[in-house]
Amino acid sequence: MRAVYLTAHGGPEVLQYGELPDPQPGPGQVRVRLHYAALNHLDLWVRRGWPGLRLTYPHILGADGAGVVDAVGPGVDAAWVGRRVVLNPNIGCGRCAYCLAGQDNRCDHWQLLGETRAGTYADFVVVPERNVWPVPDGFDLAQAAAAALVFQTAWHSLITRGGLRPGEWVLVVGASGGVNTASIQIAKRAGARVIVVGSNARKLALARDLGADFGIDRSQTPRWHREVLRLTNGRGVDVVVDNVGTTFPLSFKAACKGGRILTVGNTGGPVFEIDNRYIFGKHLSILGSTMSPQTDFRTVMDLVFAGHLRAVVDRVFPLAEARAAHAYLEAGQQLGKVVLRIAAQA
Ligand code: ZN
Repeated sequence: MRAVYLTAHGGPEVLQYGELPDPQPGPGQVRVRLHYAALNHLDLWVRRGWPGLRLTYPHILGADGAGVVDAVGPGVDAAWVGRRVVLNPNIGCGRCAYCLAGQDNRCDHWQLLGETRAGTYADFVVVPERNVWPVPDGFDLAQAAAAALVFQTAWHSLITRGGLRPGEWVLVVGASGGVNTASIQIAKRAGARVIVVGSNARKLALARDLGADFGIDRSQTPRWHREVLRLTNGRGVDVVVDNVGTTFPLSFKAACKGGRILTVGNTGGPVFEIDNRYIFGKHLSILGSTMSPQTDFRTVMDLVFAGHLRAVVDRVFPLAEARAAHAYLEAGQQLGKVVLRIAAQA
C-alpha cells in the first residue's frame, strides 16, 4: 500500500512517501480503505519526537481517518465490509477496569492511532471493530475524518468533564484550531454565551461565523482578561477552554469565582508558571482530559452527521504532499482542519 511514514524524527523532510506491506486484520479487527486522513498537532509532535517516545519504524502517522471497511478479521461480522466508516483513533483494550467502566480514554493499555500504532496516512489501517462508526450515505468522508479527534475531545471536555449548563459564560482561548472551533459550536449548542480570544481579525471572523457571541483580538488587547470581565459585568466566565497553557495566568483572572478551567492540550508549551493564589482564592477547578470514551465519540459524531455541528476544513492536500501539509499546519495560518486525500470519495 501507499503510505507516508517516518524512519527518523525531524522536520517535514523526514516524511517519506512510498510502499509498505498491507496490514491484515486480526481477531476482532477490521481493515479500512482510507479515503481521507486529517492532520492534528499531535502528528507534528510525533514527527518531531519527545523524550520517552519509542516508535517502531517505519512509523505511519495520522490519528484521524474515514473510508470504507474492506476486510474483517476472525470473529467480526462480515456485514461491515463495504460500509463507510469514521475511525475513533482512541483505542482502549476493552478489558481493564477503566474500559469496563466505559472510560476507555483512561485505559491502562491505551493506544492512539499514529502515535502508539500505525496511523491513517496510508491506503489501509487496521483497528478494533469497536473503533469504527458508520457514516451515513451522502455525508462527506473528508468532513467525517476532520471531525473525529477534535469533536470527541471538545465534547468530553465541555460536556462530560466540564458539566457545561445552559446560560453559562464560556471563554475559548484560541479561535481557529480544530478543538477550539469544535468547542465554540458545542458551547453554543449547549446554550452557553461564548467569548473567543483570537490572534487576528480573520480567525475571529471564523469564530463569529461558528456562533461565538464576542471576539477579542489579542493582538490589539494583550490584557484580554480585562475585556472578558467587562463583557461579564465584572463577574468573569464560568468556564474557560484553555488549550494553550501558557495563557493560564490570564485565564484564571478571566474566570468567575468557582470557575472551571478546561484543558486538553498545551499548544503554547507544556511547562509554565501559575500563581496558585488564584486557584484557591477563587475556588477554581482545573479539569484535564484527553480524547473521549466511545459513548461521547458516537454521540458527537452523530450530531456532526445530522448537521448540528460541522468540522471546518481549511485545505485538502493529496497524500503524496504530506510534507507540504505539515509545513502548512506548522505555519499556523490555517482556519480549521488540514486534510489529506488518499482515495476518491466513496
Ligand atoms: Zn483498557
